[in-house]
Formats: sequence, structure tokens, C-alpha cells
Amino acid sequence: MNKLSKCTLMVVIILLQLKGFAQNATTLITNVQIINGTGAKAFKGAVRIKNDRIVEVGNLKANASDHVVNGHGYVLAPGFIDAHSHHLGDLQKNINGLSTANQGISTIVIGQDGGSYPMDSLAADMKLKPVVANVASYVGHSSLREEVMGEKNLFRNATQSEIDKMKVILQSELNKGALGLSTGLEYEQAFYSNRDEVLQLAKVAANANTRYISHIRSEDVTMADALDEIIQIGKITKMPVQISHIKLAKKSDWGTADKMIRQLEQARTQGVQITADVYPYTFWNSTLRVLFPARDYTNLASAQLAVTQLFDPTASYIVQYAPNTAYVGKTLAEIASIRKQSNAQCLISLVAIAADFKEKNPGYKGSIEAIAAKSMEEKDVSKFIAWENAVICSDGNGGGHPRGYGSFTRVLGKYVRDEKLIPLEKAIYKMTGQTANYLGIKDRGIIEIGKKADLVLFDPNTVMDHAVIGNSHALSDGISMLWVNGQVVYKNKKATGNRPGELIKR
Ligand SMILES: [Zn+2]
Repeated sequence: MNKLSKCTLMVVIILLQLKGFAQNATTLITNVQIINGTGAKAFKGAVRIKNDRIVEVGNLKANASDHVVNGHGYVLAPGFIDAHSHHLGDLQKNINGLSTANQGISTIVIGQDGGSYPMDSLAADMKLKPVVANVASYVGHSSLREEVMGEKNLFRNATQSEIDKMKVILQSELNKGALGLSTGLEYEQAFYSNRDEVLQLAKVAANANTRYISHIRSEDVTMADALDEIIQIGKITKMPVQISHIKLAKKSDWGTADKMIRQLEQARTQGVQITADVYPYTFWNSTLRVLFPARDYTNLASAQLAVTQLFDPTASYIVQYAPNTAYVGKTLAEIASIRKQSNAQCLISLVAIAADFKEKNPGYKGSIEAIAAKSMEEKDVSKFIAWENAVICSDGNGGGHPRGYGSFTRVLGKYVRDEKLIPLEKAIYKMTGQTANYLGIKDRGIIEIGKKADLVLFDPNTVMDHAVIGNSHALSDGISMLWVNGQVVYKNKKATGNRPGELIKR
């Protein structure tokens, strides 16, 4: 054996030893307040993890094989589960995954608002383009419609034979581990479906023992009817149903969160398993088109209703506008003044210009227009966050609305520590165990022996969001470390480069 091959052999032996060592190695996260994600009180202790699992919890002493992480007395909680997320594209593009990691999220739930990827392509993507967070997905109703009816043919009820085809695809996707059916009934791709179409598909999801989640048909002028629809689906199918990003988005409804919660509670007493998810902001982020509930985009009276009842033009920012990027970051009122129009006229113009742009740029990828619209009242948002049957979501991505970076840390900083809306343990439960329960994810969301090592270490005294419109990627304070499947993905405001996210199947 010559010198070079001897040397190579030694390197190989050392590498093998290191690998063996790594397999036996454990991490001990010590000196922490454990909030285990069940709602139980915090307790002092340590957590030992091995590979991707939690192997011990309690009063533990370090042993020789432990890599010890001193938790400095911070809180150690299960990694947060984002109940309604649009982050996947951002995580694939910006592979450090700061949007989710900086707020402590270890799992995102996608396929929301009726839009989803087929489970097979999602599985392939997770291998090809690994991400920092775990991913679980619903099957989107609008995606089923697009596949069966064609992208340009969605503005009508589906025929029975089309519904039958959708049922077959839905069943197959559920068999592949999707969480249930999601709808985005306020969006045009699904707005023209009738209740029967949605109910027939919901029954397929119910028979597969899954669940239904919905961006309901209206969050403003016809919300009573929209609520009735989801309650009926829950009543008839007996499966759990969830209102996505629950809100009161019409000015004259502000202050009525209690009344809405009473209505939902009443449905629950009648056996309807209705729940909600909520993000902690008073403004939403969507298309300008949803501001026309009757889809009459040139009607001045409708535009007038929108600017007075549905959003505040002086506090609502255009966050995307492909036809004229100079509008991005400006309020609608500012743009109206530049264009020398009334707010209502300006709204009509912006929708028309965007529609024209879409027509002339059929291959355009991404959103052509989006607005972060101030449309809710703080008190209502607080009440929904505190509602026993609501879990926390971001509804975010890597875009212009700060919720993509700040939702979970905002709940912990503003609502829990500063405003004392709910106890910390309860907030963590809404971000972890309660969400996992709803989704039927059995091995995450709780700190317990045998569960996956998705863990977040944070300082409850400093945790706070900093993302705002105009600086929507500002990182939160207070998230010290985040583990996903036993690997550290984020430490002291920096990504580690690990991307251990798994596709979670029901
Ligand atoms: Zn939505």
C-alpha cells in the first residue's frame, strides 16, 4: 500500500468513526422552562434528543455522549405549526427559510384557500428542493376545478360529471396522505361553485375521515350566509370544519366578535365540530378584486361601498402591482391623489389596469396585484385569538404583508406578554398541540418521549415581531434556537443551512 492510499484509508476510518459517533450522539437541552404543548403549566427541566426524536424529558443530568445546549432559563416549546400557510414557494426560493424559522415555525400547513399541489409532485419537490420546515397539505377545491374544468372555464357551476371527476382525484389525493379538503370560495376560481358541488366533495373528505377547511364565501357583506354554509357542511358530514383566518372585515360589523363566537359555540353544542384559525393583524392581504363582493368591478356604487365599509384607503397599502411597480408601498388614497381620482374611481381603475395587464401577459408568473387592506378592529382580532377553538396561523408567505415573518412572535410578544390576553401555556397550545390535534398529526406538537424533535427555544421576556409593511422581512427578537426533526435550522437570528423538512402525511 503506498503512502497516498494509506492516508486515504485513515481518512475513511476517521470518517466512519465520526459517523458512528454522530449516530450515538444525543443533544441535551438543559436549564429550560418546558411548555409541552398540551396547555399544561411550564416546568423546569431538560430534554434529550437523539437523531430526529425526543428520547427523554425531565430532570436530566448530562452524560458523556451528550452535546449540551444551555437553554439559559428560556422556554422550550414544541416547534410551532402554522395552521394556514402559503410559505412553501418562499422556502424553496430563499432556502435559509428565515420567514418561518425567525418566528419559531417548524411545520407549515399548505394547500389552503382552494389551491394545492398534487401530493406526488409535493413529495418529489421535498426531495429535489428540501426546505427548513415540515410540510402538510390539504387538497384544494379550486385546483380540482382547474384540473377538471380548465383554467378559463371556472366561472360557472360544475356539471355532475365534472364533480364526479373531481371526487375521484380528491379521493386519490387523500389516499396519498393529504389532510382534507380546502376551499377558497371567495375567489373567482371557486366563487361560482354552488353549495351542492362543495358538499358533494366535502362528503368524500368526510368518508375518508379527514376534514374541511375554508376561506368562506364572504368575510364581509354576505358573511352570515357564508357561515351558514360551513356550519351546514359540518352538520351534514359530521367531520371537523375550520374557518380559515377568521375575521370581521366589514366596518358596520366591527365589535361583534362575541356575537359571532356565540353563533359558532351554538353550532358546537349541536354537534358541529367547528373551529377557526386566526392571524394577529388588523389588515389582510389579497387581491383588489375581493373588494367587489358582487364581482362587479366597474360598478361605482360597489367601489364606494368598498372604500367606506370594506377597507380603509388611507391605511391600506398596495403590496404588488405588476402594471406599475411605483404604486407598491403606497396607500390606495395616495395613488388616488396621484391619479387625481376619488378613492372609489381609483379602485376601479387599478382593477381594470391589472385585468388588462393579465390579458396581455398570459405567461406572467406571480401575483399581478395585491393589497394589504386595513379592514378589521383590534378588539375583534383579540377575541378571535382568545377563542378556545381557534388556533394560530400566519396566512403568510415571503411577501409584503408582515404576517409572513412576524405572526407567531407577535402573538407571544404583543398579545401574551404585553396585553396579557391569554396565558403563555395556552398560546403555545394554540400554536402546537391543539393544531396537531385538529390535523390528526400524532407525532408532533407535544414535547413527549417518542415524538419528533421539533423544538423552539425562546426568551419570553424579549420575544417580539418586527416585520411591518415596508420592512416586512425584519426578523423577530427572542427566538434563540429552532430544531426541526432534531436538526438545528436557526440560531440567534441566523440560518444554519440545514433543511430537514419532511412531508407529513395523514
Ligand atoms: Zn384565505
